[in-house]
Amino acid sequence: MPEILKWSESIPICGEYDVIVCGGGIAGVSAALSAARCGKKVLIIEKTVTLGGLATMGLINMWVPLCNGRGRQIIKGLAEELLRLSIAHGYDTLPEEWRLGEPEQPTDRRYVTYYSIGIFELELLKLLKDAGVTVLYDALVSVPVMKGQHCEGIIIDGKSGRHFYRAKMVVDATGDADVLLRAGVPTEDGYDYFTYIAEGIDIEHCRKAVEKNDVRYAYVRYSGGSSTLYGEGHPEGMPRFKGASMEMENDFLQKNQLLLYDKIRDMPRSERDIHYLPGMAQLRTSRHLIGDKPLTDDMLYRHEETSIGAVCDFDNRDSLYEVPYGALVCRGFDNLITCGRCASAEGWAWDVLRVIPPAVLTGQAAGTAAARAIDSTVPIYDLPVGPLQQALAATGVIIHFDDAWVPGTGTSERASVEGHI
Ligand SMILES: Cc1cc2nc3c(=O)[nH]c(=O)nc-3n(C[C@H](O)[C@H](O)[C@H](O)COP(=O)(O)OP(=O)(O)OC[C@H]3O[C@@H](n4cnc5c(N)ncnc54)[C@H](O)[C@@H]3O)c2cc1C
Repeated sequence: MPEILKWSESIPICGEYDVIVCGGGIAGVSAALSAARCGKKVLIIEKTVTLGGLATMGLINMWVPLCNGRGRQIIKGLAEELLRLSIAHGYDTLPEEWRLGEPEQPTDRRYVTYYSIGIFELELLKLLKDAGVTVLYDALVSVPVMKGQHCEGIIIDGKSGRHFYRAKMVVDATGDADVLLRAGVPTEDGYDYFTYIAEGIDIEHCRKAVEKNDVRYAYVRYSGGSSTLYGEGHPEGMPRFKGASMEMENDFLQKNQLLLYDKIRDMPRSERDIHYLPGMAQLRTSRHLIGDKPLTDDMLYRHEETSIGAVCDFDNRDSLYEVPYGALVCRGFDNLITCGRCASAEGWAWDVLRVIPPAVLTGQAAGTAAARAIDSTVPIYDLPVGPLQQALAATGVIIHFDDAWVPGTGTSERASVEGHI
C-alpha cells in the first residue's frame, strides 16, 4: 500500500451543461453530436488537441465493414454519415459497388474505406462546432464528482488549473472507462497484444503515388510490435498488456517505440521518413463497463428486445448481432452512460463492438439516450427503449436485422476480402 497524501482544494465552477461527453474519440464525437441534435447543451472534453481518438491520432484510418459481406448494409445512421464525411474532402478506397450506397446486386466486396486522418480530424471539429457543441481540448477529465451513485459533474485538469463543470448527464467515451472506474461503476480490464503502427512515406511509394496520380499510395506503415488482434506475432514470453494502468501503458508504448527505432534506424535515411507516431496507445481493449446486459458471443443471430442497433462482424461474413441497451448503462448509476470501446461486451463480442462503425452506433445511442433521459426525468438505466429505438431508426439505424439475412447453420465463413484487421 503506497503512502497516502490527503489534499483538499477549492475549484472554480466553470459551467453547467445538459450533457458532458468525456473523451473526443469517434464514439464521443457521435455521442456529443447526437445529444446536440436533440437540442441539448453539450460539452465534449478531450485530453489531446484533436478529435477522433484511435480513429485519427491512433492512426487507425480504416472503417471496418458496414455490411454483411453479401452486399447488404447492416450499420446505418450516423456511422454511414461519418464514413461519408471522412472521405468527403480526402482520398478514399471505397469499392465502386458501394459508391452510391447499397448495391442492387449481391457482392462479396465489403463496404470499407481508408481515409485521410488529418482531414477527418478537421471535418469532425467543423461538424461539432456547426452543431453547437462546446469543444474543450487539452483538458484531462480527472474526477467525476459523485453524490452516492449520481454524478454531479466533472473536474478537469487544464492549462489554467482545475475546473468543475456541472452536468445533468455524463457520457464516458474515454475508451478506457476512466470516468466509470473513478465513479465506482463496475468495470473489467482487457488484454492486449504487442502492436504499434506508425505512418510514413518512402521514395518507392512516392513514385507509385505519382504514377497513379493518387496521394494515398505515398503512405507506408512502419511497425514496432506487429501482433495481429489474434496475437500472431506477439513476442514469445512477453505477457499480454492488461487494463489501462499508467505503468502498463508506459511499458507498452516505450517498448514499442524502442523496437520501432531499432527497425528503422539503419534504413537508407534519404529514402524514408516517419511523419506520424501514434498520438495515443494503440490498445484494442483496455477497460469496459460491466453493464446491465453485455453483448456476448451467444447473442449471434439473436434478436434483442432492447436493441439499439444491429451490427456485423468485421472478420466473419454474415455474422450479425443486436446491441442491447444494457451494454451502455449500469443499474443504480442514474446519469452515467458509456459507448465505444468501453461499452459492455464479453469475449469476441467485445471485438465486434469496439471497432469504428459500432463505436459510432453506440455513441449515437448514448448521446440520444442521455438527451431523452433528461427530457423524461427517468434514471438513464430505466429509459424506455421503444422511443429511443424510434429516434435511432429515424436516422436510418437498423434496429433489428431481417431473419432473411441469417445464413443456414454452418454457412458463415471467415471473410477473405477487405475488412480484415
Ligand atoms: C491496432 C488497432 C487496429 C485497429 N484497426 C481498426 C480498423 O482497421 N478498423 C476499425 O474500424 N477499427 C479498428 N480498431 C478499433 C478502433 O480504432 C477503436 O476501437 C475505436 O476507434 C474506438 O473509439 P472510441 O471513441 O471508443 O475510443 P478512443 O478512440 O480510444 O477514444 C477515446 C478518446 O478519449 C480521450 N480520453 C481518454 N481519456 C481521457 C480523459 N481522462 N480525459 C479526456 N479525454 C480522454 C482520448 O484521448 C481519445 O480521444 C483498431 C484498434 C487498434 C488498437
